[in-house]
Amino acid sequence: VVRTRIAPSPTGMFHVGNARSALFNWVVAKQAGGVMVLRIEDTDAERNSQAGVDSILDAMAWLGMGPEEYEGPYFQSANLQAHKDAVTELFGKGLAYRCECTRDDVIARTGDSNKGYDGFCRDRNLPEGERRAVRFRTPDEGVTTVVDLVRGKPTFENALLEDFVIARGDGTPTFLLANVVDDLLMNITHVIRAEEHLPNTPKQQLLWEALGHEPPVWAHAPVLVNEKRQKLSKRRDRVALEDFRAEGYLAEAMRNYLMLLGWAPGENREIVPWEEIVAEFSLADVNPSPAFFDVKKLRAFNGDYIRAMELPRFIAACRPWVEGPDVPWRPEAFDPTSFAALAELAQTRVSLLSEIIDMVDFVYLDDLVRDDGSWAKAMKDDSAEILTATIAAYEKAEWTAAELKAALEAVGEARGLKLGKVQAPVRVAVTGRTVGLPLFESLEVLGRERSLGRMRAALE
Ligand code: GLU
Repeated sequence: VVRTRIAPSPTGMFHVGNARSALFNWVVAKQAGGVMVLRIEDTDAERNSQAGVDSILDAMAWLGMGPEEYEGPYFQSANLQAHKDAVTELFGKGLAYRCECTRDDVIARTGDSNKGYDGFCRDRNLPEGERRAVRFRTPDEGVTTVVDLVRGKPTFENALLEDFVIARGDGTPTFLLANVVDDLLMNITHVIRAEEHLPNTPKQQLLWEALGHEPPVWAHAPVLVNEKRQKLSKRRDRVALEDFRAEGYLAEAMRNYLMLLGWAPGENREIVPWEEIVAEFSLADVNPSPAFFDVKKLRAFNGDYIRAMELPRFIAACRPWVEGPDVPWRPEAFDPTSFAALAELAQTRVSLLSEIIDMVDFVYLDDLVRDDGSWAKAMKDDSAEILTATIAAYEKAEWTAAELKAALEAVGEARGLKLGKVQAPVRVAVTGRTVGLPLFESLEVLGRERSLGRMRAALE
């Protein structure tokens, strides 16, 4: 039975790289009727946080991986005894030894800070002692070949693999060891993770074998890069899943886009229903070269997903933005009926759910926030005259979008002006902006009194 796992550390925000790995693991387990395990690697006591754990669980649930979709969560810290037992087992097999060298000692001997450990303590048989790390004895000869479903069979010279640390001086296990021990105790068959871990893989496979187990199948998904082809970094790039969510990205769009970071569904399809992705995805088809995390493209995907929603779903999705605690208007000013009419107009015009606010605020704000730049752009020498004529026409008009349009067209014709020219001052007077929802429908929703009031105020 296929058992995959996602093993994030709760030391920061769950990011798009974590999410892509989680999705790959989820899909591979699903396809095989297997299980995905969630293991939280919380062994770095200084950098762990509950917020980090919540960020993992929330982001996974948002993407569709709620608690019913995985086994766990397990916490690595709970397995400390098993990690220590594994170190003891390796000692018993003559595959581990104590080492008292500092980094500086090693550099002093090798004269090269990039060279790995030189094996100085290998045969010194140092007894157990304070501040002595434990190293794994790697083979001096031969090669370690790993089976990687994305990369074929990467082969590593054992002579180039240093004797790496498996337990620190204080007895705590290192990532390399703890990660392997947990995987083998959890019967993991497929380790699917990011390319950054590829250099760890031969070392980890040696540990699997040394502990008497068949190694798993590996798959290293391509590194994610920004538009400058730099590896994505938490410090430089926007990568936290919760930031995207807060901006109004839809989980479905995010999920679809993340699956394409390394994989292509074929026939140039990009927007692909989730069931088809699950049916078609294959690690063997994942391209090992760096994948560009293109926020512009993600945003375009999001717009496509928004446009494809049924209107009631779109309205429901907007709710946290228009009815949440941070709305820019008095919460009582909001009304679902007018919002339904506005949402229908807005759905084709937003790429992010958060953009809904600027599109509809003119209806719910008591006083327009006058943006001087827009005002200056729309108000020309003849604007006052146009507004005066429009007010006069609108006072008599029936308050429907069609009538309001006809009346404004007549104002324009009388002056030899196109509709676009006469619309501009009316739009900015009523909505505060130079762009937005279709004007006449907007006026209809805003109503006669408020629309005329704002046009009169603009003349003052
Ligand atoms: N805790 C490691 C990480 O977040 C796990 C790597 C792995 O999947 O093996 O990078």
